Amino acid sequence: MNSTAALSLVNTTLDYPDGAGTVTALDNVSLCVEAGQFLSLVGPSGSGKSSLLATAATLVRPTGGLVLIDGTDTSALAEKERTALRREKIGIIFQQPNLLPALTAAEQLVIADHLRGRALRAARGKAAELLDVVGLGAEAHKRPHQLSGGQRQRVNIARALMGRPTVLLVDEPTAALDHERSEAIVRLLRRITDEFSVATVMVTHDTEFVPLTDAVATMRDGRLTAAIPSIH
Ligand code: ADP
Ligand code: MG
Repeated sequence: MNSTAALSLVNTTLDYPDGAGTVTALDNVSLCVEAGQFLSLVGPSGSGKSSLLATAATLVRPTGGLVLIDGTDTSALAEKERTALRREKIGIIFQQPNLLPALTAAEQLVIADHLRGRALRAARGKAAELLDVVGLGAEAHKRPHQLSGGQRQRVNIARALMGRPTVLLVDEPTAALDHERSEAIVRLLRRITDEFSVATVMVTHDTEFVPLTDAVATMRDGRLTAAIPSIH
């Protein structure tokens, strides 16, 4: 195990209550992702991919094993400390952007930082910079209904970067997009992983985009195969 990895899961198990028994969503999963590494996570529906992301995001506490973020053992932390660490270190991007309908693209980002207790002025500057990074510099004043699906997902990505995360967790970011827009989103995530040196894990059903990432790991019945390096 490399304790300096941005994200490490060590023998992580997650059981959900299921009637009188339990269902094992993660079965002794171990995984290491370094800064600047982009990992694809594939596998059939119900195999535990979203459970792995939720556990890595510290949104769900594992039944057993460890989740280390930047070397910090999150299982030892109280709920309040976990929330603070999540805000500081983890960017989460789900399939649906979940933007607030009344706010402009820039405001979605500023609010995210405001919730972290940051100064408004600095947040505005950073929001403008990150909207540029995702190619929406000219769209900063638009509200969600004035943006395309791909543009909304870019706002979502920019928002996840506001906290300058160490780890970026992405669940099926292209599920609602056509092929061309999907590829553009994965290419953007590749560039962000490199430029911001984040450790990125992306769940995807599109194995076609795996070559844009560094490695692919497969989940089956809660078990994870070792990550196989991609051929570029
Ligand atoms: P995937 O993302 O690969 O489709 P999930 O992680 O969503 O898989 O689900 C893995 C297993 O855990 C499935 O059997 C699913 O039914 C179960 N599961 C997921 N979330 C919950 C939950 N909140 N409560 C109970 N069971 C759950
Ligand atoms: Mg899922």
